Amino acid sequence: MNQFVGIEGGGTKFVCVYGSSPTDLQDRTVIKTQKPDVTMKEVIEYIRFAQKKADIKAIGLAIFGPLDLDLTSSTYGCITTAAKPGWEHYDVIGTLKDSFNLPIGLDTDVNGSAIGEHRWGAGQGLSDFLYLTIGTGIGGGAVVGGELLHGASHPEMGHMLVQQNRALDPDFEGVCLYHKNCLESLASGPSMKTRWKVDSALDLPPDHKAWDLEAHYLAVGLINYMLTLAPKRIIMGGGVMRQAHLLPKIYQEIVTHLNGYLKDDKIIQHLDTYIVPPGLGEDSGICGAIALAEKSFMLAEKKCNR
Ligand code: ADP
Ligand code: ZN
Repeated sequence: MNQFVGIEGGGTKFVCVYGSSPTDLQDRTVIKTQKPDVTMKEVIEYIRFAQKKADIKAIGLAIFGPLDLDLTSSTYGCITTAAKPGWEHYDVIGTLKDSFNLPIGLDTDVNGSAIGEHRWGAGQGLSDFLYLTIGTGIGGGAVVGGELLHGASHPEMGHMLVQQNRALDPDFEGVCLYHKNCLESLASGPSMKTRWKVDSALDLPPDHKAWDLEAHYLAVGLINYMLTLAPKRIIMGGGVMRQAHLLPKIYQEIVTHLNGYLKDDKIIQHLDTYIVPPGLGEDSGICGAIALAEKSFMLAEKKCNR
């Protein structure tokens, strides 16, 4: 089996592995996210370590954005603005290319999770599905017609504007620096922490009304994605979704707010198989990074053989 390095770059940590698939991950090294030069130096050292252990064919990096993923752009592979402080405009792909003569697959963290789920998880065999993460932020990666949806660069689904529920949530100001009432502002982990004055959403018991409001906002967001992208499945990951009681509440809210509009029985009668947890559990992102590497390797091979 071809061996790849996969790196999942998050706001607090970078997780590095090498291997070929979810059942063949040879190592797992966690690097603290600091200033880009410090963190990427350690990432480069990790890749050199993996190269000593195995014949690494390509590197895959799924990293927080926003990222410039327009292949025709002069700043392709750079982090753009509004990123983690210190990382604005950082040339991620350039840094790796300076050190390694290997194919490099790059995408956002959430697109990475989507491609991981497509390759080995709950999105296997599906031409159209959506992966959502509900964590520190809210993000979505969509597979449309068998390919990751990129558009002008990549979607920013968490910043979709939703109506604030004035009856259940009259005073909350939201947590997004840009929008008072985007989905991330009203339904991310930090929004629950701030609204309900707890250290973490984890501290809210399952019978707390916080979860009814959370299910309401997430259902509104999901309905908008369902009606726009017509996915064949929605996979929901991220820290907040570790609350197993939340999905059934979301199903109820979806039925209420769709109000009979979607007649497709495959969806409405089977919400529990339509909106599901990740098949790869917590490993969607890191497996996605391996899948990104694999894809870039196959593309490079194809070009060589032409
Ligand atoms: P990140 O989005 O930073 O990659 P996570 O997906 O783990 O990381 O999301 C972190 C957010 O999820 C935090 O706001 C945290 O409070 C919340 N969270 C983590 N675990 C749980 C849990 N078991 N139940 C509810 N919320 C959780
Ligand atoms: Zn926003």
